[in-house]
Amino acid sequence: MPKFAAGVVKFQRDVYPHKQDLFEQLSKGQSPEALFITCSDSRIELGMLTQSEPGDLFVVRNAGNIVPPHDTRTGATTAAIEFAVGALKVPHIVICGHTDCGAMKGAMALDKLDSLPHVRDWLGYSRAAVDITNAIGADLNDHDRMLMLLEQNVMLQINHLKTHPTVAVAMAKGELQLHGWVYDIADGEIYAVDLDSGKFLPVSKRYAEQVAKYLDHDHAHGVA
Ligand code: ZN
Repeated sequence: MPKFAAGVVKFQRDVYPHKQDLFEQLSKGQSPEALFITCSDSRIELGMLTQSEPGDLFVVRNAGNIVPPHDTRTGATTAAIEFAVGALKVPHIVICGHTDCGAMKGAMALDKLDSLPHVRDWLGYSRAAVDITNAIGADLNDHDRMLMLLEQNVMLQINHLKTHPTVAVAMAKGELQLHGWVYDIADGEIYAVDLDSGKFLPVSKRYAEQVAKYLDHDHAHGVA
């Protein structure tokens, strides 16, 4: 039996009974706080990372946390965005990249992807981020240049998001906020962009006010 199948039995035995009320409530519908668009990479564990419960996050995952710019064609990412914003009315969208991203390494070396033609084509949606990084990050060491690409890619995909009509309308009505994150796997830090300055700051600084409010609340309830 694969480990993930045994895990289901463990979930049913050890986890479900403690959260039965939540699951029964969720069986009637969902009202997630955010649409999360992140990479398919196996190392990103969103529930653990954001300490979210089932029902909190509506998730789209693909290679490179990419959002194709809107056009008349239908794709899985486009349809999921339309549903999350147009039907579920999520108030936040987070694009979350991560360190050691195979997709972003591939985007930097498309000529090595001849045996992966769909991956190569898909990474074309990151081309502007690659070109910007090569243009202004040429003098950086490999680590810093890759970090620049991760950040540029997140910001590029945020720009693509704004071309989707449901997103554009929700933003115009002041009902939707966009967020750009880069997750550092090794140290557990998440850097979040301040969209006015284009600078990435640790989550604890970028959202200092909200974090303080939330953790105070936890403390008051004896959770912290
Ligand atoms: Zn990745």
